[in-house]
Amino acid sequence: MAPTVEASPRIAIFGAGAAGICTAIKLIEAGLDDITMFEKSDGVGGTWRANTYPGAACDVPSHLYSYSFASKGDWTRKFAQQPEILAYFEEITDRYGLRRLIRFNTEVRSATFDENTGTWRVVTDAGAEDFDVVVSGLGQLNRAYVPEIDGLSQFAGDMFHSAHWDHSVDLSGRRVAVVGNGASALQFIPHVAEQASELTVFQRSANWVIDKRDGEYPGWRQRMFARFPATQRLHRWSIYWRLEANFALLRRSSRVARLLERVITRALEPVTAVLPSEAVIPDYPIGCKRILLSSDYYAALMRDNVHVELDHIDHIEPDAVVTVDGRRHEVDTIIWGTGFRSTEFLAPMTVIGRDGRDLNEAWAKGAVAYLGVAVAGFPNLFMLYGPNTNLGHNSIIFMIEQQSRYIVEMVKELRDQHLAWIDVRRDAMDRYNVDVQRRAGDTVWVASCDSWYKNEHGIVTNNWPAFTVTYWKRMRGIRRGDHVRRHRAVAATTSPELRHEIV
Ligand code: NAP
Repeated sequence: MAPTVEASPRIAIFGAGAAGICTAIKLIEAGLDDITMFEKSDGVGGTWRANTYPGAACDVPSHLYSYSFASKGDWTRKFAQQPEILAYFEEITDRYGLRRLIRFNTEVRSATFDENTGTWRVVTDAGAEDFDVVVSGLGQLNRAYVPEIDGLSQFAGDMFHSAHWDHSVDLSGRRVAVVGNGASALQFIPHVAEQASELTVFQRSANWVIDKRDGEYPGWRQRMFARFPATQRLHRWSIYWRLEANFALLRRSSRVARLLERVITRALEPVTAVLPSEAVIPDYPIGCKRILLSSDYYAALMRDNVHVELDHIDHIEPDAVVTVDGRRHEVDTIIWGTGFRSTEFLAPMTVIGRDGRDLNEAWAKGAVAYLGVAVAGFPNLFMLYGPNTNLGHNSIIFMIEQQSRYIVEMVKELRDQHLAWIDVRRDAMDRYNVDVQRRAGDTVWVASCDSWYKNEHGIVTNNWPAFTVTYWKRMRGIRRGDHVRRHRAVAATTSPELRHEIV
């Protein structure tokens, strides 16, 4: 007898960035096409739509920072800039016909699980709807962080965060303060330095910066990749393994990392001849914060109109940033390059799972998820780029593809086995997390510096602490017994005793 074709579960995907787009494509390919995507902005691309600051570009080579199933042979340069990356995600959205699934300008407020029906009630600013499955593609870097500094609201000039760049502000001739010097600031500082009359960079700690070695792909190479896709795959493959090897540098015991630190420090001698060495040489091991790539950052810092301020900010006055030593730095524009609220994951959205458990409360001591994707007590809820899946050494797209695969497998099982819900077991999740934290303990992230990879308790909640191949293997070897399943008829019953008996 031919198997009956089950209807697709109703699936909600939050966010139409690189992660949400990837999972939507993979679900559709598996015949799971009852999908609604909620996107708070007016277009796709997520972080690549939001971050339009001058110089915005990827620091992972583009041939790897793209889907394995939708390669692009004609990337114009090794590290594509934001407009080209955004255009890629736009083109993929159209190529796979996703636009019809997306509700733009719609922000999700809450998701609440009903154990009886096995459904999630999703409340957006446009109303409420029920879904069988919820996939969060919000990632880790979607909420800009601006520190609470006394007097900030009294500042009389222009002020904006790097992720909300105000392009109407002409910086020419301005006295500009940039607060922060992370991956974003490093990219826009050289551009601001060229326009501003004076630029003061308020820096708390130096970063390890490596020469970016960017460059354009000549036309013949682009044509070769297009004509002989195997050459493009080979190129991608070689980038992947080169980056993958870098994970070894992130181990505390790495001698190569110590050697690399010495090599970089020596190469910086012309810079430390001009700038104080604390401004340039980090006091923590390489890799503890993201290793940054740039070829124009130090040249910008050494310009006559640029000053690196190492004293911490005390407060802000209407026309100045005042440092703890009492000095007033008069400015008319402040640009916050202070990063994101990375450890709060799905906040401020309210997510309520089984037994009325609030996800943000469950994560009060630190976000935890089985393989970064599923959380015990929150059935049929899956996350992309969730806890402990960020990378300090390779492409996040690789991780997102593995996660999409897991989600497709789970949703297929829901459909094919007539399940109301599927949940990861708490003991499996705890075991997994013990292993993750044990591995994190061997990395430089743990004790050596403060970074957005850790929460306020010092727990590494954001990064995957191993080679990505290890993650790939774990994703392929998922044990069936790591999950609990409820059949439809069981979930529909109102008797909790019966529900627990018939699993
Ligand atoms: P970030 O790396 O978190 O950097 C934030 C900066 O702000 C740091 O320099 C930090 O100093 C400083 N800061 C934070 N709070 C401060 C305060 N109260 N007072 C003074 N300074 C303060 O943020 P980001 O540069 O936006 O980058 C975030 C992540 O986005 C990156 O790590 C990366 O994963 C991603 N990103 C990627 C690319 C790419 O090319 N792929 C480009 C941009 C961003 P401390 O270091 O002392 O804490």
